[in-house]
Amino acid sequence: EVRLSGVNKWFGDHHVLRDINLTVKPGEVVVLLGPSGSGKSTLCRTINRLETIDSGSVQIDGAEIPAEGKALAELRSEVGMVFQSFNLFAHKSVLENVTMGPIKVRGKSKREARELAEALLKKVGVVNQADKLPAQLSGGQQQRVAIARSLAMRPRVMLFDEPTSALDPEMITEVLDTMASLAKEGMTMIVVTHEMGFAREAADRVVFLADGAVVEENTPEEFFTNPQSDRAKDFLGKIL
Ligand code: ATP
Ligand code: MG
Repeated sequence: EVRLSGVNKWFGDHHVLRDINLTVKPGEVVVLLGPSGSGKSTLCRTINRLETIDSGSVQIDGAEIPAEGKALAELRSEVGMVFQSFNLFAHKSVLENVTMGPIKVRGKSKREARELAEALLKKVGVVNQADKLPAQLSGGQQQRVAIARSLAMRPRVMLFDEPTSALDPEMITEVLDTMASLAKEGMTMIVVTHEMGFAREAADRVVFLADGAVVEENTPEEFFTNPQSDRAKDFLGKIL
């Protein structure tokens, strides 16, 4: 479970997160929506402490996020994150990208790590690319490798921040399908996306942010067909 309570954050005098209260239960899929600059990325980044907060608390399975050191590194390894850009290690093969974390951080043997990596690469549909370098893969394939790499750490929660925004249209579906099947398997997920089809089908809940505050929270059916706030109506009017 991920629990944010009374989270506030400022960048200088800009109040970017305003008293955020948000609980994501195990197995729940929450899609974060909101206009550009509303704080979606910042919110995601507070969950693995890529951003510090000024007040409030962020807890994962009841434990406060550690401020630094080994405990923070451990926590980060349990919070998988996939961004818009494909942040794979360019000089390592696909397979090495996925085995590195388990070997270095989890102390797995090479053989164990390799077996796990092969199973995960198979699951995301790129096992036949295992010996290539990231640059030899399409964007959609690279993004699926990034997902496999995160999963190899056995995360408690997966954060996705616009994972398909940099992809050509024909590659978006394959990444969304991978995410949807993860969701079905019960992964706890927080997803920032402009793909409303994904939000409708895969989300248990939509959380709508505007100006750093949670303005509306609802099931996707309710949110899309019956938005309550003017901000949400305005947002949906522009994108649907
Ligand atoms: P987008 O949809 O464009 O990705 P977002 O909802 O993810 O937007 P954030 O990136 O979280 O928005 O930014 C929230 C606000 O904080 C914006 O006004 C942004 O300019 C500001 N901001 C983000 N990062 C920093 C930073 N490192 N320093 C100062 N201001 C920042
Ligand atoms: Mg963003």
